[in-house]
Amino acid sequence: MKIDLDAGHGGKDPGAVANGLQEKDIVLPISLKAGETLKRHNVKVDFSRTTDKFVGLTDRAIMANNNNADVFVSIHCNKATNTTGQGVETYYYAGSIEGKKLATCIQDSIMKSGLYTKNRGIKEGNFAVLRHTNMPSALVELGFISNVEDAKILKEKQEELAEAVARGILNYLGIEMQEKGMNNTMDKINIKLHGKDLEIDGIFKDNTNYIPVKFLRELGYKIGWENGKVIIEYK
Ligand code: ZN
Repeated sequence: MKIDLDAGHGGKDPGAVANGLQEKDIVLPISLKAGETLKRHNVKVDFSRTTDKFVGLTDRAIMANNNNADVFVSIHCNKATNTTGQGVETYYYAGSIEGKKLATCIQDSIMKSGLYTKNRGIKEGNFAVLRHTNMPSALVELGFISNVEDAKILKEKQEELAEAVARGILNYLGIEMQEKGMNNTMDKINIKLHGKDLEIDGIFKDNTNYIPVKFLRELGYKIGWENGKVIIEYK
């Protein structure tokens, strides 16, 4: 399964600008974080851009098509002249049944996150990235950058928005979302210690395995801290 995440705008194209924010700077970290969450669920992820660079609309679609992505999701923020306009809406290409399903999953997931009160629903849209992509696609407008309340969410709740987008995509794929963090589901980390294979609960994040220090203590290591350094000794 492969997902193409498309952070809108970039480089010379800032997208919507208001309340001291630029759309391109909001959607990029959200896209990257959503991608991280998807990868945790063994879903392959391609990004239209991972840095602040300009990518043409058709090129974004061609990239997804060439990469044989199964799902394409474009991430944007809205803007209106009337600054009271607010809330979330998700678009799909007219007539696409799968696109509509995908858009519904994303929209529902964001509304369930409780970040927004205004549900603008799913809509048909004739955006180039929806029109030119071969796979089920959706374009989410994560709130209005031109609205003070929404702008605050877009600036301060990026982690939550990313999780909500990822959850929506996972729901569409029929994959159950695994919560991350110490108090939630742990990853199984395989390590070899003194020639012994062990499987322990830890966290896999950013291509790095993290294991709890207390685990080493249970194995007979002496753990101490000295001048900000962790000292590990075998007793
Ligand atoms: Zn946009």
